[in-house]
Amino acid sequence: MKTDYIIVGGGLAGLCMAFTLYKANKTFVVIDGDIRSSSKVAGGMFNPVVLKRFTSIWESEAQLKLADDFYPQVEKFLDASFYHQMPIFRKFASIEEQNNWFLACDNSNTAPFLNPKLFNEQLKGIKSSFYFGEVYNTGFLNVNQFVISYQNYLKSINVLRSEYFDHKSLIINDSSIFYKDIEAKHLIFADGFSILNNPLFHYLPVDGTKGELLYVRIPDLKLKVIVKSGVFIIPIGNNLYKVGATYNWEDKTDATTEAAKKELIEGLEELLDCEYEIINRVAGIRPTVKDRRPLVGAHYQHENVYVLNGLGTRGVLLAPYLAEILLLNIENDVPLDKNIDVARYYKKLQLIK
Ligand SMILES: Cc1cc2nc3c(=O)[nH]c(=O)nc-3n(C[C@H](O)[C@H](O)[C@H](O)COP(=O)(O)OP(=O)(O)OC[C@H]3O[C@@H](n4cnc5c(N)ncnc54)[C@H](O)[C@@H]3O)c2cc1C
Repeated sequence: MKTDYIIVGGGLAGLCMAFTLYKANKTFVVIDGDIRSSSKVAGGMFNPVVLKRFTSIWESEAQLKLADDFYPQVEKFLDASFYHQMPIFRKFASIEEQNNWFLACDNSNTAPFLNPKLFNEQLKGIKSSFYFGEVYNTGFLNVNQFVISYQNYLKSINVLRSEYFDHKSLIINDSSIFYKDIEAKHLIFADGFSILNNPLFHYLPVDGTKGELLYVRIPDLKLKVIVKSGVFIIPIGNNLYKVGATYNWEDKTDATTEAAKKELIEGLEELLDCEYEIINRVAGIRPTVKDRRPLVGAHYQHENVYVLNGLGTRGVLLAPYLAEILLLNIENDVPLDKNIDVARYYKKLQLIK
Protein backbone atom coordinates (compact mmCIF):
# COMPACT_ATOMS: atom_id res chain seq x y z
CA MET A 1 0.00 0.00 0.00
CA LYS A 2 1.07 3.60 -0.62
CA THR A 3 0.75 6.32 1.99
CA ASP A 4 2.15 9.77 2.69
CA TYR A 5 3.43 9.03 6.20
CA ILE A 6 4.37 6.14 8.47
CA ILE A 7 4.26 7.05 12.16
CA VAL A 8 6.00 4.74 14.62
CA GLY A 9 4.40 5.17 18.05
CA GLY A 10 0.75 5.60 18.96
CA GLY A 11 1.16 7.63 22.16
CA LEU A 12 0.32 11.32 22.57
CA ALA A 13 3.02 12.42 20.13
CA GLY A 14 2.23 9.90 17.37
CA LEU A 15 -1.54 10.30 17.64
CA CYS A 16 -1.48 14.11 17.68
CA MET A 17 0.72 13.87 14.59
CA ALA A 18 -1.82 11.52 13.00
CA PHE A 19 -4.76 13.86 13.63
CA THR A 20 -2.74 16.82 12.37
CA LEU A 21 -2.01 14.90 9.16
CA TYR A 22 -5.67 13.95 8.83
CA LYS A 23 -6.65 17.64 9.08
CA ALA A 24 -4.11 18.44 6.36
CA ASN A 25 -5.55 15.74 4.08
CA LYS A 26 -2.46 13.55 4.29
CA THR A 27 -2.61 9.78 4.50
CA PHE A 28 -0.77 7.80 7.15
CA VAL A 29 -0.25 4.45 8.84
CA VAL A 30 0.50 4.27 12.58
CA ILE A 31 2.54 1.35 13.92
CA ASP A 32 2.36 0.73 17.65
CA GLY A 33 3.59 -2.36 19.44
CA ASP A 34 2.11 -1.45 22.84
CA ILE A 35 5.62 -1.69 24.27
CA ARG A 36 5.90 0.88 26.99
CA SER A 37 3.78 3.99 27.16
CA SER A 38 4.14 7.18 29.12
CA SER A 39 0.83 8.43 27.72
CA LYS A 40 -1.25 5.61 29.17
CA VAL A 41 -0.17 6.42 32.72
CA ALA A 42 0.06 10.23 32.52
CA GLY A 43 -1.76 12.51 34.95
CA GLY A 44 -2.72 14.54 31.90
CA MET A 45 -2.76 17.91 33.65
CA PHE A 46 -2.13 20.99 31.54
CA ASN A 47 -1.20 24.40 32.86
CA PRO A 48 0.68 27.29 31.32
CA VAL A 49 2.99 28.10 34.27
CA VAL A 50 5.49 26.14 36.35
CA LEU A 51 3.46 25.44 39.48
CA LYS A 52 6.48 25.03 41.69
CA ARG A 53 8.07 28.42 41.11
CA PHE A 54 5.29 30.35 39.30
CA THR A 55 7.45 30.96 36.25
CA SER A 56 6.44 30.97 32.60
CA ILE A 57 6.85 28.10 30.15
CA TRP A 58 8.27 28.26 26.65
CA GLU A 59 5.52 29.22 24.16
CA SER A 60 2.79 28.17 26.58
CA GLU A 61 0.27 30.71 25.35
CA ALA A 62 0.47 29.44 21.78
CA GLN A 63 0.44 25.81 22.94
CA LEU A 64 -2.62 26.39 25.06
CA LYS A 65 -4.47 28.16 22.28
CA LEU A 66 -3.84 25.28 19.93
CA ALA A 67 -4.69 22.58 22.50
CA ASP A 68 -8.00 24.32 23.27
CA ASP A 69 -8.91 23.95 19.64
CA PHE A 70 -7.26 20.62 18.86
CA TYR A 71 -8.52 18.26 21.58
CA PRO A 72 -12.18 19.31 21.31
CA GLN A 73 -11.89 18.68 17.56
CA VAL A 74 -10.66 15.13 18.25
CA GLU A 75 -13.43 14.65 20.80
CA LYS A 76 -16.03 15.73 18.25
CA PHE A 77 -14.48 13.54 15.57
CA LEU A 78 -14.52 10.46 17.84
CA ASP A 79 -17.72 11.37 19.65
CA ALA A 80 -15.86 10.96 22.94
CA SER A 81 -14.98 13.11 25.93
CA PHE A 82 -11.49 13.34 27.39
CA TYR A 83 -10.47 17.03 27.47
CA HIS A 84 -11.58 18.70 30.69
CA GLN A 85 -11.05 22.36 31.48
CA MET A 86 -10.81 22.79 35.23
CA PRO A 87 -9.10 25.36 37.48
CA ILE A 88 -5.95 24.38 39.34
CA PHE A 89 -5.76 25.60 42.93
CA ARG A 90 -2.14 25.87 44.03
CA LYS A 91 -1.95 25.39 47.76
CA PHE A 92 0.53 27.72 49.47
CA ALA A 93 2.85 26.31 52.10
CA SER A 94 3.95 29.67 53.57
CA ILE A 95 3.61 33.46 53.51
CA GLU A 96 6.75 33.52 51.39
CA GLU A 97 5.00 31.46 48.72
CA GLN A 98 2.05 33.83 48.78
CA ASN A 99 4.47 36.71 48.23
CA ASN A 100 6.08 34.89 45.30
CA TRP A 101 2.60 34.45 43.86
CA PHE A 102 1.93 38.19 44.04
CA LEU A 103 5.27 38.85 42.33
CA ALA A 104 4.31 36.46 39.53
CA CYS A 105 0.94 38.21 39.24
CA ASP A 106 2.87 41.41 38.47
CA ASN A 107 5.09 39.73 35.90
CA SER A 108 3.78 40.25 32.36
CA ASN A 109 4.73 36.69 31.32
CA THR A 110 2.74 34.95 34.03
CA ALA A 111 0.10 37.55 34.94
CA PRO A 112 -2.46 36.42 32.30
CA PHE A 113 -2.64 32.99 33.94
CA LEU A 114 -2.77 33.83 37.65
CA ASN A 115 -5.62 35.19 39.75
CA PRO A 116 -4.15 37.87 42.06
CA LYS A 117 -6.96 37.37 44.57
CA LEU A 118 -6.09 34.60 47.03
CA PHE A 119 -8.72 31.93 47.41
CA ASN A 120 -9.24 31.88 51.15
CA GLU A 121 -12.30 29.70 51.53
CA GLN A 122 -11.79 26.20 52.85
CA LEU A 123 -12.06 23.36 50.34
CA LYS A 124 -13.97 20.62 52.09
CA GLY A 125 -11.64 17.74 52.94
CA ILE A 126 -8.41 19.67 52.19
CA LYS A 127 -6.15 21.07 54.89
CA SER A 128 -4.85 24.58 54.21
CA SER A 129 -3.35 27.26 56.46
CA PHE A 130 -2.03 29.63 53.81
CA TYR A 131 -4.85 29.47 51.24
CA PHE A 132 -4.69 28.84 47.49
CA GLY A 133 -3.82 30.65 44.27
CA GLU A 134 -5.98 29.99 41.21
CA VAL A 135 -4.31 29.28 37.86
CA TYR A 136 -6.35 30.06 34.74
CA ASN A 137 -6.57 28.11 31.47
CA THR A 138 -5.90 24.76 33.06
CA GLY A 139 -7.39 21.28 33.22
CA PHE A 140 -6.59 17.72 32.31
CA LEU A 141 -6.69 15.40 29.35
CA ASN A 142 -7.66 11.83 30.11
CA VAL A 143 -4.69 10.72 28.04
CA ASN A 144 -5.31 6.99 28.39
CA GLN A 145 -8.85 7.43 27.08
CA PHE A 146 -7.67 9.67 24.24
CA VAL A 147 -5.07 7.08 23.22
CA ILE A 148 -7.42 4.10 23.43
CA SER A 149 -10.33 5.85 21.63
CA TYR A 150 -8.20 7.15 18.78
CA GLN A 151 -6.19 3.95 18.42
CA ASN A 152 -9.44 1.93 18.25
CA TYR A 153 -10.78 4.23 15.57
CA LEU A 154 -7.57 4.04 13.52
CA LYS A 155 -7.63 0.28 13.84
CA SER A 156 -11.21 0.15 12.60
CA ILE A 157 -10.20 1.95 9.39
CA ASN A 158 -7.07 -0.20 8.97
CA VAL A 159 -4.46 2.51 9.46
CA LEU A 160 -3.15 1.29 12.83
CA ARG A 161 -0.95 -1.78 12.92
CA SER A 162 -0.52 -3.31 16.36
CA GLU A 163 2.99 -4.64 15.95
CA TYR A 164 6.57 -3.95 16.91
CA PHE A 165 8.33 -1.81 14.29
CA ASP A 166 11.16 -3.99 13.08
CA HIS A 167 14.01 -1.81 11.81
CA LYS A 168 15.42 -4.74 9.82
CA SER A 169 12.43 -4.49 7.47
CA LEU A 170 13.02 -0.81 6.74
CA ILE A 171 14.50 0.47 3.48
CA ILE A 172 15.13 4.18 3.12
CA ASN A 173 15.62 5.70 -0.35
CA ASP A 174 16.04 9.38 -1.20
CA SER A 175 12.46 9.61 -2.44
CA SER A 176 10.64 6.80 -0.60
CA ILE A 177 10.44 4.71 2.54
CA PHE A 178 9.67 1.01 2.29
CA TYR A 179 8.47 -0.96 5.29
CA LYS A 180 7.15 -4.45 4.62
CA ASP A 181 4.20 -3.88 2.22
CA ILE A 182 4.04 -0.10 2.86
CA GLU A 183 5.59 2.56 0.65
CA ALA A 184 5.60 6.04 2.18
CA LYS A 185 7.00 9.48 1.43
CA HIS A 186 7.93 10.17 5.06
CA LEU A 187 8.63 8.27 8.27
CA ILE A 188 8.14 9.84 11.71
CA PHE A 189 9.40 8.22 14.89
CA ALA A 190 7.28 9.14 17.93
CA ASP A 191 8.50 6.22 20.01
CA GLY A 192 8.87 7.91 23.41
CA PHE A 193 11.47 6.48 25.76
CA SER A 194 11.90 3.42 23.47
CA ILE A 195 13.91 5.76 21.22
CA LEU A 196 16.89 4.33 23.08
CA ASN A 197 16.37 1.09 21.09
CA ASN A 198 15.91 2.91 17.79
CA PRO A 199 19.02 2.46 15.62
CA LEU A 200 18.30 5.72 13.76
CA PHE A 201 17.97 7.98 16.82
CA HIS A 202 19.28 6.08 19.87
CA TYR A 203 22.18 8.55 20.37
CA LEU A 204 19.84 11.44 21.25
CA PRO A 205 20.00 12.44 24.94
CA VAL A 206 16.58 11.19 26.05
CA ASP A 207 17.43 10.36 29.64
CA GLY A 208 13.89 9.53 30.85
CA THR A 209 12.25 10.41 34.15
CA LYS A 210 10.19 7.74 35.81
CA GLY A 211 6.85 8.79 37.29
CA GLU A 212 4.32 6.98 39.43
CA LEU A 213 0.72 7.79 40.20
CA LEU A 214 -2.06 6.50 42.46
CA TYR A 215 -5.76 6.13 41.71
CA VAL A 216 -7.69 6.70 44.93
CA ARG A 217 -11.31 6.72 45.99
CA ILE A 218 -12.23 9.59 48.35
CA PRO A 219 -16.00 9.56 48.93
CA ASP A 220 -16.07 12.65 51.18
CA LEU A 221 -13.93 14.98 49.08
CA LYS A 222 -16.32 16.18 46.31
CA LEU A 223 -13.56 18.24 44.70
CA LYS A 224 -14.44 20.21 41.54
CA VAL A 225 -10.95 21.63 40.95
CA ILE A 226 -7.44 20.21 40.65
CA VAL A 227 -5.45 20.84 43.83
CA LYS A 228 -1.67 21.10 43.57
CA SER A 229 0.57 20.97 46.59
CA GLY A 230 3.51 18.54 47.03
CA VAL A 231 1.28 16.19 45.00
CA PHE A 232 -1.62 16.96 42.67
CA ILE A 233 -5.14 15.59 43.08
CA ILE A 234 -7.23 15.44 39.91
CA PRO A 235 -10.95 14.60 40.21
CA ILE A 236 -11.84 12.13 37.46
CA GLY A 237 -15.44 11.40 38.50
CA ASN A 238 -17.26 8.80 40.62
CA ASN A 239 -15.33 9.86 43.75
CA LEU A 240 -12.09 8.79 42.03
CA TYR A 241 -8.92 10.89 41.93
CA LYS A 242 -5.50 10.67 40.34
CA VAL A 243 -2.73 11.49 42.80
CA GLY A 244 0.75 12.14 41.47
CA ALA A 245 3.38 12.24 40.52
CA THR A 246 6.86 11.15 41.49
CA TYR A 247 10.13 11.92 39.71
CA ASN A 248 12.91 9.33 39.62
CA TRP A 249 15.98 9.77 37.41
CA GLU A 250 17.68 6.44 38.26
CA ASP A 251 15.10 3.68 37.84
CA LYS A 252 14.26 3.07 34.16
CA THR A 253 11.68 0.29 34.65
CA ASP A 254 7.88 0.54 34.35
CA ALA A 255 7.29 -1.26 37.67
CA THR A 256 5.49 0.45 40.54
CA THR A 257 7.57 0.76 43.73
CA GLU A 258 6.89 0.90 47.45
CA ALA A 259 9.10 4.00 47.76
CA ALA A 260 6.96 5.98 45.32
CA LYS A 261 3.76 4.75 46.95
CA LYS A 262 5.05 5.97 50.31
CA GLU A 263 6.02 9.36 48.86
CA LEU A 264 2.59 9.83 47.27
CA ILE A 265 0.72 8.72 50.39
CA GLU A 266 2.73 11.18 52.49
CA GLY A 267 1.89 14.00 50.05
CA LEU A 268 -1.78 12.99 50.00
CA GLU A 269 -2.09 12.76 53.79
CA GLU A 270 -0.51 16.19 54.15
CA LEU A 271 -3.41 17.53 52.07
CA LEU A 272 -6.39 15.44 53.09
CA ASP A 273 -8.41 15.34 56.25
CA CYS A 274 -10.75 12.59 55.13
CA GLU A 275 -10.58 8.84 54.47
CA TYR A 276 -9.27 7.43 51.19
CA GLU A 277 -8.70 4.07 49.55
CA ILE A 278 -6.02 3.22 46.98
CA ILE A 279 -7.55 1.58 43.92
CA ASN A 280 -4.60 1.28 41.55
CA ARG A 281 -0.97 2.28 41.00
CA VAL A 282 0.73 2.99 37.66
CA ALA A 283 4.24 3.87 36.51
CA GLY A 284 5.95 4.97 33.32
CA ILE A 285 8.96 6.81 31.92
CA ARG A 286 8.54 10.38 30.72
CA PRO A 287 10.64 10.98 27.58
CA THR A 288 12.69 13.82 29.05
CA VAL A 289 15.72 15.36 27.34
CA LYS A 290 18.90 16.58 29.04
CA ASP A 291 18.27 20.24 28.05
CA ARG A 292 14.52 19.89 28.78
CA ARG A 293 13.53 20.76 25.24
CA PRO A 294 11.70 18.54 22.73
CA LEU A 295 13.45 16.85 19.81
CA VAL A 296 11.82 17.60 16.47
CA GLY A 297 13.07 17.37 12.90
CA ALA A 298 14.82 15.31 10.26
CA HIS A 299 17.49 12.66 10.68
CA TYR A 300 20.97 13.98 9.95
CA GLN A 301 21.42 11.65 6.95
CA HIS A 302 17.86 10.93 5.80
CA GLU A 303 15.75 13.96 4.87
CA ASN A 304 12.53 11.91 4.87
CA VAL A 305 12.96 10.37 8.35
CA TYR A 306 11.98 12.46 11.38
CA VAL A 307 11.86 12.40 15.14
CA LEU A 308 9.03 13.75 17.34
CA ASN A 309 10.10 13.13 20.91
CA GLY A 310 11.21 14.67 24.19
CA LEU A 311 7.72 15.75 25.30
CA GLY A 312 8.93 15.30 28.86
CA THR A 313 6.57 16.38 31.63
CA ARG A 314 4.32 18.47 29.36
CA GLY A 315 3.12 16.13 26.64
CA VAL A 316 -0.49 17.33 26.67
CA LEU A 317 0.32 20.90 25.66
CA LEU A 318 3.36 20.10 23.55
CA ALA A 319 2.02 17.28 21.37
CA PRO A 320 -0.48 19.17 19.15
CA TYR A 321 1.85 22.16 18.93
CA LEU A 322 4.92 20.17 17.88
CA ALA A 323 2.90 18.07 15.44
CA GLU A 324 1.77 21.22 13.65
CA ILE A 325 5.30 22.64 13.62
CA LEU A 326 6.71 19.40 12.21
CA LEU A 327 4.05 19.25 9.51
CA LEU A 328 4.81 22.83 8.43
CA ASN A 329 8.51 22.02 8.41
CA ILE A 330 8.08 18.93 6.25
CA GLU A 331 5.44 20.16 3.84
CA ASN A 332 6.24 23.90 3.63
CA ASP A 333 9.91 24.06 4.64
CA VAL A 334 9.11 26.33 7.59
CA PRO A 335 12.32 26.37 9.67
CA LEU A 336 12.23 24.85 13.15
CA ASP A 337 12.78 26.98 16.23
CA LYS A 338 16.32 26.21 17.41
CA ASN A 339 14.97 25.44 20.90
CA ILE A 340 13.29 22.29 19.64
CA ASP A 341 15.24 21.47 16.47
CA VAL A 342 16.92 18.07 16.88
CA ALA A 343 19.78 19.42 14.77
CA ARG A 344 21.06 21.25 17.88
CA TYR A 345 22.47 17.88 18.93
CA TYR A 346 23.95 16.83 15.58
CA LYS A 347 26.83 19.28 15.88
CA LYS A 348 27.25 18.66 19.60
CA LEU A 349 27.47 14.91 18.99
CA GLN A 350 29.78 15.50 16.00
CA LEU A 351 27.40 13.73 13.62
CA ILE A 352 27.73 16.66 11.21
CA LYS A 353 30.43 19.30 10.79
C1 LIG B 1 3.42 9.35 35.96
C2 LIG B 1 3.39 10.33 34.81
C3 LIG B 1 2.61 11.47 34.93
C4 LIG B 1 2.57 12.39 33.87
N1 LIG B 1 1.74 13.46 34.01
C5 LIG B 1 1.66 14.35 33.00
C6 LIG B 1 0.77 15.46 33.11
O1 LIG B 1 0.07 15.63 34.11
N2 LIG B 1 0.71 16.33 32.06
C7 LIG B 1 1.46 16.16 30.91
O2 LIG B 1 1.36 16.98 30.00
N3 LIG B 1 2.31 15.12 30.79
C8 LIG B 1 2.43 14.21 31.81
N4 LIG B 1 3.27 13.14 31.68
C9 LIG B 1 4.14 13.08 30.50
C10 LIG B 1 3.44 12.49 29.27
O3 LIG B 1 2.95 11.24 29.60
C11 LIG B 1 4.43 12.40 28.11
O4 LIG B 1 5.00 13.65 27.81
C12 LIG B 1 3.77 11.90 26.81
O5 LIG B 1 2.79 10.95 27.09
C13 LIG B 1 4.81 11.30 25.88
O6 LIG B 1 4.15 10.80 24.76
P1 LIG B 1 4.94 10.03 23.60
O7 LIG B 1 3.95 9.70 22.57
O8 LIG B 1 6.15 10.79 23.21
O9 LIG B 1 5.50 8.71 24.30
P2 LIG B 1 4.69 7.34 24.78
O10 LIG B 1 3.40 7.74 25.33
O11 LIG B 1 5.63 6.63 25.62
O12 LIG B 1 4.42 6.62 23.43
C14 LIG B 1 5.39 5.92 22.70
C15 LIG B 1 4.67 4.85 21.90
O13 LIG B 1 5.60 4.29 20.98
C16 LIG B 1 5.37 2.90 20.88
N5 LIG B 1 6.61 2.30 20.40
C17 LIG B 1 7.87 2.57 20.80
N6 LIG B 1 8.77 1.86 20.08
C18 LIG B 1 8.06 1.13 19.19
C19 LIG B 1 8.41 0.18 18.16
N7 LIG B 1 9.67 -0.16 17.88
N8 LIG B 1 7.41 -0.41 17.47
C20 LIG B 1 6.11 -0.10 17.71
N9 LIG B 1 5.72 0.80 18.67
C21 LIG B 1 6.68 1.40 19.39
C22 LIG B 1 4.95 2.48 22.29
O14 LIG B 1 4.18 1.29 22.26
C23 LIG B 1 4.16 3.71 22.77
O15 LIG B 1 2.77 3.56 22.53
C24 LIG B 1 3.35 12.19 32.70
C25 LIG B 1 4.11 11.04 32.58
C26 LIG B 1 4.15 10.11 33.63
C27 LIG B 1 4.99 8.86 33.48
